[in-house]
Amino acid sequence: MSLEEMYGSLGVSGPVLALGESVLADLAERFAEIDRVAEYNQAKVLHAMQINRVGAACFAATTGYGYDDVGRTTLEKVYAACFHTEAALVRPQITCGTHALAVALSANLLPGDELLSPVGRPYDTLEEVIGIRPSACSLKEYGVTYRQVDLLPDGTFDYDAIRAAIGPRTKLVTIQRSKGYATRPSFSVAQIGELIAFCKSCKPDVVCMVDNCYGEFVEMQEPSDVGADMIVGSLIKNPGGGLAPVGGYICGTEACVSRCAYRLSAPGLGQEVGANLGLMPALYQGFFLAPTVVAGALKGAIFAACLYERLGFRVVPGGAEDRHDIIQAVELGSEAAMVAFCRGIQAAAPVDSYVTPFPWDMPGYDDPVIMAAGAFVQGSSIELSADGPIRPPYAVYFQGGLTWYHAKLGILKSVQALVDDGLVNV
Ligand SMILES: *Cc1c(COP(=O)(O)O)cnc(C)c1O
Repeated sequence: MSLEEMYGSLGVSGPVLALGESVLADLAERFAEIDRVAEYNQAKVLHAMQINRVGAACFAATTGYGYDDVGRTTLEKVYAACFHTEAALVRPQITCGTHALAVALSANLLPGDELLSPVGRPYDTLEEVIGIRPSACSLKEYGVTYRQVDLLPDGTFDYDAIRAAIGPRTKLVTIQRSKGYATRPSFSVAQIGELIAFCKSCKPDVVCMVDNCYGEFVEMQEPSDVGADMIVGSLIKNPGGGLAPVGGYICGTEACVSRCAYRLSAPGLGQEVGANLGLMPALYQGFFLAPTVVAGALKGAIFAACLYERLGFRVVPGGAEDRHDIIQAVELGSEAAMVAFCRGIQAAAPVDSYVTPFPWDMPGYDDPVIMAAGAFVQGSSIELSADGPIRPPYAVYFQGGLTWYHAKLGILKSVQALVDDGLVNV
């Protein structure tokens, strides 16, 4: 069977495949640059593992309190070394990215303090953490106020308004690297560095936290290299490399991270407890694979952008733009097109390829959300997945793919679904 016939057996028609190949023909140089970044980051991870003497003893399971857990302690040293921070908290007990962010915020903000987002509205689930939307146990309930400075219409930072918003009570500045479910740009590490420097010039002791979700290993530097006091993310996104079955991380200054550990476990206990439950092999190996997995996801994102741009849709970022995260937004313009797109992604999956995604009311989100994911790890969005809230401009946020070839198939299948539903012509 030829490759073309193989794609045919997976439901991709000749014209859709040909369109894909013609888009790919222009992407060789972009892909080579992605491979260079992956090579650099692979070296960075290996160096961090080697200087911390990762060995077989690190993979042993611990239970109960998890005292003297060599695997857990060493893994945290590896993360800290890789991201160039004083300390790291990397735990399966951190249930997801929102939890990691909630721990980082609530550990470092006290009643009377103010939290500032200088990059506009935060990720949907953070609205309840902060109390922008009322929720039990929000920061607002504990007397932490919140202020937001929106981006300028061109997507850049509103420095005058940020200066005016930083006051005596401003304790922590939260900067979201990735666009999340918004159609604003994601920020480069260099841009985040400038913003942090500006905030610290206004108030030297302000704590700067970066929501690093989806950004890890996209560039050669991380926000912790440019002044962030904490970077925070999920292990079922980039740094878990697709193998971590659960978890989150917080890397940063000793002062900030130790407070996070006390918040996560209990005052007085901190980082000393937390059994690893046998998950260490997956967490180490996933981190080891993460740079190349992220590279595959980036290739998929760029391919999707260029292909959908060719079909006449608005995509964010544009096909030719630099990448600062693995997310690709495609504005499809209608609920029907979102459903078809997600059906195609789902049908390409190794797991649950036979199910059909529909919009549903998901906890933590304001609008119904549609999600396509046929993942080995439930909800993992470093695996090929697409999702989006059903609201104008009807954008799907496409991300992941543990291999580039799987991402490619998913994107081709999404186009095929739109063609089959009569929503586009090729
Ligand atoms: C995914 C994500 C989160 C939340 O992570 P969950 O693991 O879904 O709770 C927060 N911020 C951004 C930018 C994200 O992409």
